Amino acid sequence: MNLSGSCCCGAVTYACSSAPLFTGNCHCRDCQKTSGSAYAPTFFVPEEAITIRGEVKWYERLGDSGKPISRGFCPHCGSQLFGKPSVMPGVLAVRAGTLDDPEQFKPQINIYTRSAPSWDFMDPALPKFPAAPPMKPASKA
Ligand SMILES: [Zn+2]
Ligand SMILES: [Zn+2]
Repeated sequence: MNLSGSCCCGAVTYACSSAPLFTGNCHCRDCQKTSGSAYAPTFFVPEEAITIRGEVKWYERLGDSGKPISRGFCPHCGSQLFGKPSVMPGVLAVRAGTLDDPEQFKPQINIYTRSAPSWDFMDPALPKFPAAPPMKPASKA
């Protein structure tokens, strides 16, 4: 799978050689504030599999999890593209709306639904988590 995308003005582009590790719609307050929407559709990829071109500005703050998250955006047009949650080292979050083909994104879960507003429609078929999803159990030998 090849995932590619850009910001609104095209100054920042990315190409990813990996399929998403996991995907989801995040309804936390910070995703609402930074996206201006009810939630942020996001997929996660291994950092080493993605090539980013153009200048990205990073804004760091503690997320709803209490751990810092760096959010990357285009300094020219302000489009939000990336997230680096410190709880997931080596993993980069990418805003699905920036994909060249947004149909490549298939959300698997809804997270931080406790802060979803009443006008935030969610696919009833998808699992919902009030905060972060439970971490994957360590694989047994
Ligand atoms: Zn831009
Ligand atoms: Zn969020």
